[in-house]
Amino acid sequence: MIFVRLVSANRRSGIKFSLLAAFFLASVNFLGAINVASAEESVTDKHITSVKNENVTSSSSADRDKTASDSKSDAAKIATNKKSKSESEVTSKTARKKIPKAESIDLQKPVVKAKSKNKDDVVAAPQPPVEKISSKDSKQAAENTTKINAEKVAKTDKKKKQRKTKKDEQKEDEGIPFILLGAEVPPGTSTRLSWSPSETFEGIANPTPVLIVNGKKPGPVLCLTAAVHGDELNGIEIVRRMLYNIDADKLSGAVIGVPIVNLQGFRRTSRYLADRRDLNRFFPGNPYGSSAARIAYSFFNEVITRCSALVDLHTGSFYRTNLPQLRANLKNSDVVRLTHGFGATVVLHSDAAVGTLRRAAVDAGIPAVTLEAGEPMRVQEKEVAHGVKGIQTLLHHLKMYKKPGLWGEPEPVYYQSLWVRADQGGILFTRVHLGKRVRKGDLLGTVTDPITNVRAEITSPHNGRVLGMALNQVVMPGFAAFRIGIQKSENELAEPVRKLGTTGDDSSQIKALSTQKKIAGSNIDRRDNEDSE
Ligand SMILES: [Zn+2]
Repeated sequence: MIFVRLVSANRRSGIKFSLLAAFFLASVNFLGAINVASAEESVTDKHITSVKNENVTSSSSADRDKTASDSKSDAAKIATNKKSKSESEVTSKTARKKIPKAESIDLQKPVVKAKSKNKDDVVAAPQPPVEKISSKDSKQAAENTTKINAEKVAKTDKKKKQRKTKKDEQKEDEGIPFILLGAEVPPGTSTRLSWSPSETFEGIANPTPVLIVNGKKPGPVLCLTAAVHGDELNGIEIVRRMLYNIDADKLSGAVIGVPIVNLQGFRRTSRYLADRRDLNRFFPGNPYGSSAARIAYSFFNEVITRCSALVDLHTGSFYRTNLPQLRANLKNSDVVRLTHGFGATVVLHSDAAVGTLRRAAVDAGIPAVTLEAGEPMRVQEKEVAHGVKGIQTLLHHLKMYKKPGLWGEPEPVYYQSLWVRADQGGILFTRVHLGKRVRKGDLLGTVTDPITNVRAEITSPHNGRVLGMALNQVVMPGFAAFRIGIQKSENELAEPVRKLGTTGDDSSQIKALSTQKKIAGSNIDRRDNEDSE
Protein backbone atom coordinates (compact mmCIF):
# COMPACT_ATOMS: atom_id res chain seq x y z
CA MET A 1 0.00 0.00 0.00
CA ILE A 2 2.75 2.40 0.85
CA PHE A 3 4.30 1.76 -2.49
CA VAL A 4 1.02 2.35 -4.32
CA ARG A 5 0.53 5.63 -2.57
CA LEU A 6 4.05 6.66 -3.41
CA VAL A 7 3.51 5.79 -7.04
CA SER A 8 0.33 7.77 -7.41
CA ALA A 9 1.96 10.69 -5.62
CA ASN A 10 4.85 10.42 -7.98
CA ARG A 11 2.61 10.39 -10.98
CA ARG A 12 0.73 13.40 -9.82
CA SER A 13 3.87 15.40 -9.27
CA GLY A 14 5.14 14.27 -12.61
CA ILE A 15 8.35 12.71 -11.37
CA LYS A 16 10.11 10.54 -13.83
CA PHE A 17 10.56 6.99 -14.80
CA SER A 18 13.56 6.30 -12.66
CA LEU A 19 11.45 6.27 -9.51
CA LEU A 20 8.87 4.01 -11.11
CA ALA A 21 11.58 1.66 -12.22
CA ALA A 22 12.96 1.62 -8.72
CA PHE A 23 9.50 0.84 -7.41
CA PHE A 24 9.12 -1.94 -9.96
CA LEU A 25 12.37 -3.52 -8.86
CA ALA A 26 11.44 -3.15 -5.23
CA SER A 27 8.04 -4.75 -5.74
CA VAL A 28 9.60 -7.65 -7.65
CA ASN A 29 11.89 -8.22 -4.70
CA PHE A 30 8.99 -7.89 -2.36
CA LEU A 31 6.93 -10.47 -4.25
CA GLY A 32 9.95 -12.68 -4.35
CA ALA A 33 10.15 -12.43 -0.61
CA ILE A 34 6.51 -13.44 -0.32
CA ASN A 35 7.16 -16.48 -2.46
CA VAL A 36 10.06 -17.49 -0.29
CA ALA A 37 7.99 -16.99 2.80
CA SER A 38 5.11 -19.06 1.53
CA ALA A 39 7.52 -21.74 0.42
CA GLU A 40 8.86 -21.84 3.95
CA GLU A 41 5.39 -22.05 5.38
CA SER A 42 4.51 -24.95 3.21
CA VAL A 43 7.71 -26.60 4.30
CA THR A 44 6.66 -26.22 7.90
CA ASP A 45 3.13 -27.39 7.31
CA LYS A 46 4.01 -30.32 5.19
CA HIS A 47 7.41 -31.18 6.47
CA ILE A 48 6.41 -34.75 5.99
CA THR A 49 6.52 -34.38 2.24
CA SER A 50 9.05 -31.58 2.02
CA VAL A 51 12.18 -33.64 1.65
CA LYS A 52 11.02 -34.90 -1.70
CA ASN A 53 10.87 -31.37 -3.06
CA GLU A 54 14.24 -30.63 -4.60
CA ASN A 55 13.63 -26.88 -4.78
CA VAL A 56 13.38 -26.57 -1.07
CA THR A 57 16.59 -25.52 0.50
CA SER A 58 16.99 -26.44 4.14
CA SER A 59 15.03 -23.61 5.65
CA SER A 60 15.39 -22.82 9.30
CA SER A 61 11.90 -24.00 10.11
CA ALA A 62 12.51 -27.29 8.44
CA ASP A 63 15.69 -27.58 10.45
CA ARG A 64 13.85 -26.94 13.65
CA ASP A 65 11.35 -29.61 12.82
CA LYS A 66 14.21 -31.87 12.10
CA THR A 67 15.78 -31.23 15.47
CA ALA A 68 12.50 -31.71 17.22
CA SER A 69 11.97 -34.95 15.50
CA ASP A 70 13.88 -36.94 18.03
CA SER A 71 16.56 -38.14 15.65
CA LYS A 72 15.05 -39.52 12.50
CA SER A 73 16.88 -41.69 10.08
CA ASP A 74 16.97 -40.74 6.44
CA ALA A 75 15.23 -43.95 5.70
CA ALA A 76 12.37 -42.84 7.86
CA LYS A 77 12.00 -39.63 5.88
CA ILE A 78 11.88 -41.54 2.67
CA ALA A 79 9.26 -43.78 4.10
CA THR A 80 7.13 -40.94 5.36
CA ASN A 81 7.48 -39.15 2.02
CA LYS A 82 5.73 -42.01 0.40
CA LYS A 83 2.65 -41.08 2.30
CA SER A 84 -0.22 -39.38 0.59
CA LYS A 85 -0.45 -35.61 0.53
CA SER A 86 -3.67 -35.03 2.34
CA GLU A 87 -3.17 -34.54 6.05
CA SER A 88 -5.99 -36.75 7.12
CA GLU A 89 -4.64 -39.53 5.04
CA VAL A 90 -1.23 -38.97 6.50
CA THR A 91 -2.70 -39.23 9.96
CA SER A 92 -4.56 -42.42 9.30
CA LYS A 93 -1.62 -43.94 7.51
CA THR A 94 0.65 -42.97 10.36
CA ALA A 95 -1.69 -44.65 12.72
CA ARG A 96 -1.20 -47.87 10.85
CA LYS A 97 2.55 -47.72 10.99
CA LYS A 98 4.15 -49.33 13.92
CA ILE A 99 6.64 -47.80 16.30
CA PRO A 100 9.29 -50.44 16.66
CA LYS A 101 9.71 -52.18 19.91
CA ALA A 102 12.78 -50.86 21.65
CA GLU A 103 15.23 -53.60 22.43
CA SER A 104 17.14 -51.68 25.00
CA ILE A 105 16.44 -48.98 27.51
CA ASP A 106 20.05 -47.89 27.46
CA LEU A 107 19.98 -44.10 27.70
CA GLN A 108 23.16 -43.91 25.67
CA LYS A 109 21.36 -45.32 22.68
CA PRO A 110 17.96 -43.71 22.54
CA VAL A 111 17.55 -44.36 18.82
CA VAL A 112 15.65 -47.54 18.38
CA LYS A 113 16.73 -50.14 15.91
CA ALA A 114 14.05 -52.62 15.18
CA LYS A 115 14.75 -56.22 14.36
CA SER A 116 12.23 -56.78 11.67
CA LYS A 117 11.36 -59.47 9.24
CA ASN A 118 11.71 -57.32 6.17
CA LYS A 119 13.46 -54.09 5.40
CA ASP A 120 10.26 -52.16 4.72
CA ASP A 121 9.16 -52.51 8.29
CA VAL A 122 12.39 -51.03 9.54
CA VAL A 123 12.20 -48.16 7.11
CA ALA A 124 8.63 -47.33 7.93
CA ALA A 125 9.09 -47.45 11.66
CA PRO A 126 9.98 -43.98 13.01
CA GLN A 127 7.17 -41.48 12.72
CA PRO A 128 7.22 -37.73 12.24
CA PRO A 129 7.21 -36.19 15.70
CA VAL A 130 3.79 -34.68 15.71
CA GLU A 131 0.98 -34.98 13.23
CA LYS A 132 -0.90 -31.76 12.98
CA ILE A 133 -4.58 -32.31 13.14
CA SER A 134 -6.70 -30.10 10.95
CA SER A 135 -9.69 -28.30 12.39
CA LYS A 136 -11.89 -30.71 10.48
CA ASP A 137 -10.27 -33.54 12.31
CA SER A 138 -10.64 -31.75 15.61
CA LYS A 139 -14.34 -31.32 14.99
CA GLN A 140 -14.58 -34.91 14.06
CA ALA A 141 -12.69 -35.77 17.20
CA ALA A 142 -15.16 -33.79 19.28
CA GLU A 143 -18.03 -35.60 17.61
CA ASN A 144 -16.26 -38.84 18.11
CA THR A 145 -15.77 -38.21 21.81
CA THR A 146 -19.42 -38.79 22.55
CA LYS A 147 -19.41 -41.85 20.33
CA ILE A 148 -16.28 -43.04 22.02
CA ASN A 149 -17.72 -42.62 25.49
CA ALA A 150 -20.69 -44.67 24.40
CA GLU A 151 -18.32 -47.22 22.91
CA LYS A 152 -16.31 -47.24 26.10
CA VAL A 153 -19.37 -48.03 28.19
CA ALA A 154 -20.38 -50.66 25.70
CA LYS A 155 -16.86 -52.03 25.81
CA THR A 156 -16.89 -52.26 29.60
CA ASP A 157 -20.19 -54.09 29.47
CA LYS A 158 -18.70 -56.38 26.89
CA LYS A 159 -15.76 -57.10 29.12
CA LYS A 160 -18.06 -58.06 31.97
CA LYS A 161 -19.88 -60.43 29.69
CA GLN A 162 -16.59 -61.82 28.47
CA ARG A 163 -15.75 -63.02 31.93
CA LYS A 164 -18.89 -65.08 32.01
CA THR A 165 -18.06 -67.61 29.35
CA LYS A 166 -14.86 -68.57 27.69
CA LYS A 167 -16.57 -68.96 24.34
CA ASP A 168 -17.63 -65.34 24.39
CA GLU A 169 -14.13 -64.38 25.32
CA GLN A 170 -12.75 -66.01 22.25
CA LYS A 171 -15.28 -64.24 20.05
CA GLU A 172 -14.49 -60.87 21.54
CA ASP A 173 -10.76 -61.37 21.40
CA GLU A 174 -10.27 -58.84 18.62
CA GLY A 175 -9.19 -55.35 19.57
CA ILE A 176 -10.95 -52.31 18.22
CA PRO A 177 -9.51 -49.21 16.59
CA PHE A 178 -8.88 -46.52 19.17
CA ILE A 179 -9.90 -43.03 18.17
CA LEU A 180 -8.00 -40.29 19.94
CA LEU A 181 -7.38 -36.66 19.03
CA GLY A 182 -8.92 -37.11 15.63
CA ALA A 183 -6.82 -40.07 14.62
CA GLU A 184 -7.65 -43.70 14.41
CA VAL A 185 -5.19 -46.13 15.90
CA PRO A 186 -5.90 -49.66 14.68
CA PRO A 187 -5.46 -52.59 17.06
CA GLY A 188 -1.92 -53.90 17.28
CA THR A 189 -0.29 -50.57 16.39
CA SER A 190 1.49 -47.66 18.04
CA THR A 191 1.74 -44.06 17.02
CA ARG A 192 2.41 -40.50 18.02
CA LEU A 193 -0.39 -37.98 18.02
CA SER A 194 -0.57 -34.42 19.23
CA TRP A 195 -2.79 -32.46 21.52
CA SER A 196 -2.99 -28.72 20.97
CA PRO A 197 -4.30 -26.67 23.85
CA SER A 198 -6.73 -24.18 22.40
CA GLU A 199 -5.68 -21.30 24.63
CA THR A 200 -2.97 -20.17 22.26
CA PHE A 201 -3.17 -18.80 18.74
CA GLU A 202 -2.50 -20.78 15.61
CA GLY A 203 0.82 -19.21 14.72
CA ILE A 204 2.53 -20.16 17.96
CA ALA A 205 0.61 -23.30 18.84
CA ASN A 206 2.66 -25.90 20.65
CA PRO A 207 1.33 -29.31 19.82
CA THR A 208 2.00 -31.62 22.73
CA PRO A 209 3.04 -35.15 21.77
CA VAL A 210 0.79 -37.97 22.89
CA LEU A 211 2.06 -41.52 22.48
CA ILE A 212 -0.33 -44.40 22.18
CA VAL A 213 0.00 -48.15 21.92
CA ASN A 214 -3.26 -49.84 21.00
CA GLY A 215 -3.15 -53.51 21.83
CA LYS A 216 -4.21 -56.29 19.56
CA LYS A 217 -6.73 -57.44 22.14
CA PRO A 218 -9.35 -55.38 23.96
CA GLY A 219 -8.82 -54.24 27.53
CA PRO A 220 -8.54 -51.20 29.78
CA VAL A 221 -6.95 -47.91 28.77
CA LEU A 222 -4.10 -46.98 31.08
CA CYS A 223 -2.90 -43.39 30.88
CA LEU A 224 0.50 -42.14 32.00
CA THR A 225 1.02 -38.41 32.33
CA ALA A 226 4.28 -36.68 33.20
CA ALA A 227 5.66 -33.17 33.64
CA VAL A 228 2.39 -31.53 34.58
CA HIS A 229 5.04 -29.59 36.47
CA GLY A 230 7.49 -28.63 33.76
CA ASP A 231 10.66 -29.17 35.83
CA GLU A 232 9.90 -32.74 36.87
CA LEU A 233 11.95 -34.89 34.56
CA ASN A 234 11.92 -38.43 35.96
CA GLY A 235 8.37 -39.04 34.77
CA ILE A 236 9.24 -38.04 31.21
CA GLU A 237 11.79 -40.82 31.05
CA ILE A 238 9.44 -43.28 32.74
CA VAL A 239 6.82 -42.62 30.05
CA ARG A 240 9.40 -43.02 27.29
CA ARG A 241 10.66 -46.35 28.61
CA MET A 242 7.15 -47.64 29.11
CA LEU A 243 5.68 -46.66 25.77
CA TYR A 244 8.66 -47.73 23.69
CA ASN A 245 8.89 -51.11 25.35
CA ILE A 246 5.37 -52.35 24.84
CA ASP A 247 4.72 -54.74 21.99
CA ALA A 248 1.25 -53.84 20.71
CA ASP A 249 0.71 -57.40 19.56
CA LYS A 250 0.98 -58.65 23.13
CA LEU A 251 -1.04 -55.88 24.74
CA SER A 252 -4.67 -56.10 25.83
CA GLY A 253 -6.21 -52.65 25.89
CA ALA A 254 -4.31 -49.46 25.26
CA VAL A 255 -1.60 -47.40 26.92
CA ILE A 256 -1.58 -43.65 26.38
CA GLY A 257 1.53 -41.75 27.43
CA VAL A 258 1.92 -37.98 27.59
CA PRO A 259 5.59 -37.38 28.43
CA ILE A 260 5.33 -33.60 28.85
CA VAL A 261 1.91 -32.23 29.69
CA ASN A 262 3.18 -28.77 30.61
CA LEU A 263 5.28 -27.99 27.57
CA GLN A 264 5.29 -24.28 28.44
CA GLY A 265 6.93 -24.94 31.79
CA PHE A 266 9.25 -27.60 30.43
CA ARG A 267 10.68 -25.19 27.85
CA ARG A 268 11.50 -22.70 30.58
CA THR A 269 12.65 -25.33 33.09
CA SER A 270 9.83 -24.21 35.29
CA ARG A 271 7.29 -25.97 37.43
CA TYR A 272 4.63 -23.51 36.32
CA LEU A 273 2.88 -22.33 33.19
CA ALA A 274 4.07 -19.15 31.48
CA ASP A 275 1.67 -17.08 33.62
CA ARG A 276 3.16 -18.55 36.82
CA ARG A 277 0.08 -20.62 37.48
CA ASP A 278 0.34 -24.21 38.69
CA LEU A 279 -1.44 -26.30 36.04
CA ASN A 280 -2.05 -28.97 38.66
CA ARG A 281 -4.48 -26.73 40.50
CA PHE A 282 -6.83 -26.20 37.57
CA PHE A 283 -8.19 -29.61 36.63
CA PRO A 284 -10.70 -30.51 35.33
CA GLY A 285 -10.53 -27.01 33.91
CA ASN A 286 -12.95 -24.53 32.51
CA PRO A 287 -13.36 -23.62 28.83
CA TYR A 288 -14.13 -20.01 29.76
CA GLY A 289 -11.65 -19.60 32.59
CA SER A 290 -8.04 -18.47 32.81
CA SER A 291 -5.42 -19.68 30.38
CA ALA A 292 -4.47 -22.44 32.82
CA ALA A 293 -8.10 -23.48 33.26
CA ARG A 294 -8.54 -23.69 29.50
CA ILE A 295 -5.43 -25.78 29.01
CA ALA A 296 -6.56 -28.06 31.82
CA TYR A 297 -10.04 -28.33 30.32
CA SER A 298 -8.73 -29.17 26.88
CA PHE A 299 -6.33 -31.81 28.17
CA PHE A 300 -8.82 -33.34 30.54
CA ASN A 301 -11.55 -33.64 27.95
CA GLU A 302 -9.49 -34.68 24.98
CA VAL A 303 -7.20 -37.16 26.69
CA ILE A 304 -8.01 -37.97 30.32
CA THR A 305 -11.68 -38.77 29.80
CA ARG A 306 -10.53 -41.59 27.52
CA CYS A 307 -8.64 -43.37 30.30
CA SER A 308 -9.87 -46.25 32.43
CA ALA A 309 -7.09 -45.57 34.94
CA LEU A 310 -4.48 -42.86 35.36
CA VAL A 311 -0.96 -42.70 36.76
CA ASP A 312 0.24 -39.10 37.06
CA LEU A 313 4.02 -38.92 37.46
CA HIS A 314 5.66 -36.33 39.70
CA THR A 315 8.76 -35.64 41.77
CA GLY A 316 9.43 -33.63 44.89
CA SER A 317 9.39 -29.89 44.41
CA PHE A 318 11.94 -27.15 45.01
CA TYR A 319 15.01 -28.95 46.34
CA ARG A 320 13.08 -31.73 47.96
CA THR A 321 13.17 -35.37 47.01
CA ASN A 322 10.70 -38.23 47.44
CA LEU A 323 11.15 -41.93 47.92
CA PRO A 324 9.30 -43.55 44.99
CA GLN A 325 5.77 -43.67 46.34
CA LEU A 326 2.16 -43.59 45.33
CA ARG A 327 -0.16 -40.87 46.55
CA ALA A 328 -3.63 -42.26 46.63
CA ASN A 329 -7.00 -41.58 48.13
CA LEU A 330 -7.52 -44.79 50.03
CA LYS A 331 -11.12 -43.97 50.80
CA ASN A 332 -11.87 -44.93 47.21
CA SER A 333 -11.94 -48.68 46.72
CA ASP A 334 -11.12 -48.48 42.99
CA VAL A 335 -8.05 -46.44 43.83
CA VAL A 336 -7.03 -48.93 46.51
CA ARG A 337 -7.28 -51.70 43.93
CA LEU A 338 -5.07 -49.71 41.62
CA THR A 339 -2.41 -49.36 44.35
CA HIS A 340 -2.32 -53.16 44.64
CA GLY A 341 -0.89 -53.30 41.15
CA PHE A 342 2.39 -51.52 41.80
CA GLY A 343 4.23 -54.26 43.61
CA ALA A 344 6.42 -53.26 46.51
CA THR A 345 5.77 -49.56 46.24
CA VAL A 346 5.08 -47.41 49.27
CA VAL A 347 1.61 -45.86 49.30
CA LEU A 348 0.92 -42.61 51.08
CA HIS A 349 -2.70 -41.92 51.77
CA SER A 350 -3.66 -38.42 50.73
CA ASP A 351 -6.73 -36.69 49.48
CA ALA A 352 -5.44 -34.85 46.49
CA ALA A 353 -5.87 -31.09 46.57
CA VAL A 354 -8.77 -29.74 44.57
CA GLY A 355 -7.56 -28.94 41.07
CA THR A 356 -4.98 -31.70 40.85
CA LEU A 357 -5.24 -34.01 37.88
CA ARG A 358 -5.49 -36.97 40.25
CA ARG A 359 -8.39 -35.49 42.16
CA ALA A 360 -10.27 -34.45 39.02
CA ALA A 361 -9.83 -37.89 37.47
CA VAL A 362 -11.09 -39.68 40.59
CA ASP A 363 -14.03 -37.28 40.81
CA ALA A 364 -14.82 -38.16 37.18
CA GLY A 365 -14.87 -41.86 38.06
CA ILE A 366 -11.39 -42.65 36.74
CA PRO A 367 -9.22 -44.35 39.38
CA ALA A 368 -6.00 -42.36 39.60
CA VAL A 369 -2.80 -42.31 41.61
CA THR A 370 0.21 -40.05 41.62
CA LEU A 371 3.58 -41.73 41.41
CA GLU A 372 6.19 -39.55 43.08
CA ALA A 373 9.83 -40.37 42.43
CA GLY A 374 12.93 -38.36 43.23
CA GLU A 375 13.59 -34.69 42.82
CA PRO A 376 12.91 -32.07 40.13
CA MET A 377 15.40 -30.87 37.49
CA ARG A 378 17.18 -34.21 37.30
CA VAL A 379 16.78 -37.56 35.65
CA GLN A 380 17.57 -40.18 38.27
CA GLU A 381 18.25 -43.70 37.13
CA LYS A 382 17.18 -45.47 40.31
CA GLU A 383 13.90 -43.60 40.66
CA VAL A 384 13.10 -43.98 36.97
CA ALA A 385 13.81 -47.71 37.14
CA HIS A 386 11.52 -48.07 40.14
CA GLY A 387 8.73 -46.20 38.36
CA VAL A 388 9.05 -48.31 35.23
CA LYS A 389 9.06 -51.53 37.20
CA GLY A 390 6.02 -50.41 39.17
CA ILE A 391 4.02 -49.57 36.06
CA GLN A 392 5.09 -52.77 34.30
CA THR A 393 3.83 -54.65 37.34
CA LEU A 394 0.59 -52.69 37.13
CA LEU A 395 0.12 -53.67 33.47
CA HIS A 396 0.65 -57.27 34.51
CA HIS A 397 -1.78 -56.87 37.40
CA LEU A 398 -4.44 -55.37 35.12
CA LYS A 399 -3.96 -58.34 32.81
CA MET A 400 -2.97 -56.00 30.02
CA TYR A 401 0.59 -57.18 29.49
CA LYS A 402 2.56 -60.14 30.67
CA LYS A 403 6.03 -59.47 31.81
CA PRO A 404 7.63 -62.30 33.69
CA GLY A 405 10.38 -61.84 36.21
CA LEU A 406 9.01 -58.77 37.93
CA TRP A 407 8.36 -58.32 41.59
CA GLY A 408 6.40 -61.31 42.77
CA GLU A 409 3.20 -60.06 44.27
CA PRO A 410 4.45 -58.18 47.29
CA GLU A 411 1.90 -56.05 49.01
CA PRO A 412 2.28 -52.30 49.05
CA VAL A 413 2.99 -50.64 52.37
CA TYR A 414 0.58 -47.95 53.48
CA TYR A 415 1.45 -44.79 55.31
CA GLN A 416 0.10 -41.68 56.81
CA SER A 417 2.60 -38.89 57.03
CA LEU A 418 3.65 -35.77 58.80
CA TRP A 419 6.18 -33.08 58.06
CA VAL A 420 8.94 -32.32 60.51
CA ARG A 421 10.01 -28.69 60.30
CA ALA A 422 13.12 -26.76 61.14
CA ASP A 423 12.63 -24.50 64.15
CA GLN A 424 15.79 -22.55 63.50
CA GLY A 425 17.05 -20.95 60.32
CA GLY A 426 20.45 -21.76 58.88
CA ILE A 427 22.16 -24.39 56.80
CA LEU A 428 20.41 -27.73 56.76
CA PHE A 429 22.48 -30.89 56.70
CA THR A 430 20.48 -34.07 56.45
CA ARG A 431 21.65 -37.08 58.40
CA VAL A 432 19.33 -39.70 56.96
CA HIS A 433 18.63 -41.12 53.54
CA LEU A 434 15.34 -41.61 51.79
CA GLY A 435 13.50 -44.70 52.86
CA LYS A 436 15.35 -44.99 56.16
CA ARG A 437 13.34 -46.38 59.01
CA VAL A 438 13.68 -44.13 62.02
CA ARG A 439 12.72 -44.34 65.65
CA LYS A 440 11.34 -41.61 67.79
CA GLY A 441 14.16 -39.31 68.82
CA ASP A 442 16.51 -40.33 66.00
CA LEU A 443 18.55 -37.52 64.50
CA LEU A 444 17.21 -36.52 61.07
CA GLY A 445 19.38 -33.50 60.40
CA THR A 446 21.01 -30.38 61.76
CA VAL A 447 20.54 -26.69 61.08
CA THR A 448 23.48 -24.41 61.76
CA ASP A 449 23.29 -20.64 61.83
CA PRO A 450 26.22 -19.58 59.63
CA ILE A 451 26.69 -16.31 61.52
CA THR A 452 26.33 -17.29 65.17
CA ASN A 453 27.39 -20.92 64.70
CA VAL A 454 24.44 -22.06 66.81
CA ARG A 455 23.45 -25.55 65.86
CA ALA A 456 19.99 -27.11 66.25
CA GLU A 457 19.06 -30.72 65.77
CA ILE A 458 15.98 -32.02 64.04
CA THR A 459 14.82 -35.32 65.47
CA SER A 460 12.06 -37.66 64.49
CA PRO A 461 8.95 -37.25 66.61
CA HIS A 462 7.77 -40.75 65.83
CA ASN A 463 8.74 -44.20 64.70
CA GLY A 464 8.38 -44.22 60.95
CA ARG A 465 10.09 -43.99 57.62
CA VAL A 466 11.62 -41.09 55.71
CA LEU A 467 9.36 -40.78 52.66
CA GLY A 468 10.48 -37.33 51.57
CA MET A 469 13.13 -34.84 52.56
CA ALA A 470 14.77 -31.56 51.69
CA LEU A 471 18.19 -31.49 50.09
CA ASN A 472 20.96 -29.66 51.94
CA GLN A 473 20.26 -25.94 51.66
CA VAL A 474 19.69 -22.73 53.57
CA VAL A 475 16.39 -22.89 55.41
CA MET A 476 14.19 -20.54 57.40
CA PRO A 477 12.41 -21.41 60.64
CA GLY A 478 9.28 -23.35 59.75
CA PHE A 479 10.83 -25.00 56.71
CA ALA A 480 9.38 -28.47 56.04
CA ALA A 481 12.48 -30.64 56.09
CA PHE A 482 11.49 -34.29 56.53
CA ARG A 483 8.35 -36.16 55.68
CA ILE A 484 7.93 -39.07 58.05
CA GLY A 485 5.58 -41.88 57.05
CA ILE A 486 3.80 -43.75 59.77
CA GLN A 487 2.93 -47.26 58.76
CA LYS A 488 -0.71 -48.26 58.81
CA SER A 489 -2.69 -51.18 57.60
CA GLU A 490 -4.89 -50.75 54.56
CA ASN A 491 -7.96 -51.17 56.74
CA GLU A 492 -6.90 -48.48 59.16
CA LEU A 493 -6.46 -46.07 56.28
CA ALA A 494 -9.70 -47.08 54.64
CA GLU A 495 -11.66 -45.77 57.60
CA PRO A 496 -11.00 -42.11 57.08
CA VAL A 497 -13.76 -40.60 59.16
CA ARG A 498 -12.62 -42.21 62.34
CA LYS A 499 -8.92 -42.38 61.72
CA LEU A 500 -8.23 -39.27 59.72
CA GLY A 501 -9.22 -35.66 59.84
CA THR A 502 -11.65 -34.24 57.34
CA THR A 503 -8.85 -32.77 55.31
CA GLY A 504 -7.29 -36.18 54.91
CA ASP A 505 -4.24 -35.30 56.93
CA ASP A 506 -2.92 -36.97 59.99
CA SER A 507 -4.71 -34.95 62.62
CA SER A 508 -5.65 -37.91 64.74
CA GLN A 509 -2.05 -39.00 64.73
CA ILE A 510 -0.92 -35.54 65.64
CA LYS A 511 -3.34 -35.40 68.52
CA ALA A 512 -2.05 -38.68 69.81
CA LEU A 513 1.48 -37.39 69.61
CA SER A 514 0.56 -34.16 71.31
CA THR A 515 -0.74 -35.95 74.32
CA GLN A 516 2.12 -38.40 74.52
CA LYS A 517 4.91 -35.87 74.21
CA LYS A 518 4.81 -32.15 74.02
CA ILE A 519 6.72 -31.95 70.81
CA ALA A 520 3.95 -31.88 68.31
CA GLY A 521 3.01 -28.25 68.45
CA SER A 522 6.19 -26.69 67.20
CA ASN A 523 7.63 -28.84 64.52
CA ILE A 524 4.92 -30.98 63.05
CA ASP A 525 2.55 -29.63 60.49
CA ARG A 526 -0.97 -30.86 60.18
CA ARG A 527 -1.41 -29.90 56.59
CA ASP A 528 0.50 -31.06 53.57
CA ASN A 529 1.33 -27.64 52.29
CA GLU A 530 4.59 -28.87 50.87
CA ASP A 531 2.86 -31.57 48.93
CA SER A 532 4.70 -31.47 45.65
CA GLU A 533 1.97 -32.97 43.58
ZN1 LIG B 1 4.69 -32.28 40.51
